[in-house]
Amino acid sequence: MRICVIGTGYVGLVAGTCFAESGNEVVCVDIDERKIEALNGGEVPIYEPGLEELIKRNTEEGRLEFTTDLADAVGRSLVCFLAVGTPQGDDGAADMRYVYAAAEQVGRAMDGYRIIVCKSTVPVGTAAAVKGIVEGVSEQPFDVVSNPEFMKEGAAIEDFLKPDRVVVGCASEKAGAVMQDIYAPFVRGGAPILLMDNPSAEMTKYAANALLATKISFINEIANLCEAVGADVGKVRKGVGTDSRLGMDFLYPGLGYGGSCFPKDVRAIIHTAENAGLPFTLLHAVDEINDLQKRRVFEKVSDHFDGNLKGRKFAIWGLAFKPRTDDMREAPAIGLINDLLDAGAEVHVHDPEAMDVARGLFDGRVSYHSKNYDALDGADALLVVTEWNEFRHPDFDRIKAALKQPLIFDGRNLWEPADMAKMGFAYFPIGRQPVGL
Ligand code: NAD
Repeated sequence: MRICVIGTGYVGLVAGTCFAESGNEVVCVDIDERKIEALNGGEVPIYEPGLEELIKRNTEEGRLEFTTDLADAVGRSLVCFLAVGTPQGDDGAADMRYVYAAAEQVGRAMDGYRIIVCKSTVPVGTAAAVKGIVEGVSEQPFDVVSNPEFMKEGAAIEDFLKPDRVVVGCASEKAGAVMQDIYAPFVRGGAPILLMDNPSAEMTKYAANALLATKISFINEIANLCEAVGADVGKVRKGVGTDSRLGMDFLYPGLGYGGSCFPKDVRAIIHTAENAGLPFTLLHAVDEINDLQKRRVFEKVSDHFDGNLKGRKFAIWGLAFKPRTDDMREAPAIGLINDLLDAGAEVHVHDPEAMDVARGLFDGRVSYHSKNYDALDGADALLVVTEWNEFRHPDFDRIKAALKQPLIFDGRNLWEPADMAKMGFAYFPIGRQPVGL
């Protein structure tokens, strides 16, 4: 199958590479010339485990290409995936300008039947809007398919190659059959391909993300309540999550959700609901709880030092919004670092993958350390923000020796409070009682 993927970001690059991996001829298109130049030079512009090897293999075998020439890519492809960004607009709604622009460009380049697939996360009504845009610029026959993506950054390849399900929304049997053909290699384990209408497929993605975000905000509120009443969320979440009706997934308290999806998708569905005359009260609360939770560690640090952070030095471990990615979009680290800087503190940071991204955000206002222990020297406290695996079993003696005092604020509950107390640390976890004070 000849496929083009328009938008070579986290989703487009992974999707295009995985389609090539299953034997298709794939052209990935982007308007960002530097990105395409880097990819053509063998450099992968994002960090995603396993991606580099797959790109290398598929480009070497001639199944995967990168270009800025959208018209040429569309000219050579039967199926055109739109995987451009849908960031949050000023009013909270998804900003659809990239999808609509890409749809128009595809329409202008079509020289015969095409299947245009919305892979981006898009509000209900987008497939219909895309149809209108393409009809406005082309006489060629085409179908529009809604095929939302459920991959998780950090495990994107695995998720794409072995999805829990594939959602395909379309009104055309022909397009539906082509989509089933494309995804057949990924669902040999029995995962369903769920064929439905376009609006239901579009809504499915938002509903899924909104429910996951709701679980996170729920457990964060329970965590805060645990702190206030003397309970331990570590025990509570096990007691709750072992109920087979509930499950453990997404019941990890922390610093709130970030990334390029949950925050904007929750706000977009709120906006959709408002337009439909149905204020989504639950999701307003989910969003608000998340904003408050992102400030939780800063508030604890500020309280501990009686609001006097001027001239103090803090070490931060973890910048990415979650482990195994370099993505810092809406990462809790951003607000925390800005709050510390605004309060006059000095900030020293380490992240295994997101340091280059962080440099673009904070310039010279923070100090960057390529080794985690180097960030600690003479710091008033260590603040854990992202639960990278390599932070789970550190050399606590080394941490203690490097810090000005043995003080840790852990936004991800990496360690056991009792163990920390035994080692002589003052330790502030989330939803569990602080120890060693
Ligand atoms: P991204 O910002 O990483 O990538 C988008 C890319 O599209 C950019 O490289 C941009 O230059 C390019 N682009 C924009 N307009 C273009 C055009 N006209 N022609 C060619 N390229 C163009 O975005 P992303 O994180 O990959 O997300 C893409 C979509 O997928 C969004 O709707 C997002 O909500 C959704 N999604 C993302 C994830 C995720 O984990 N990142 C998961 C599921 C769904």
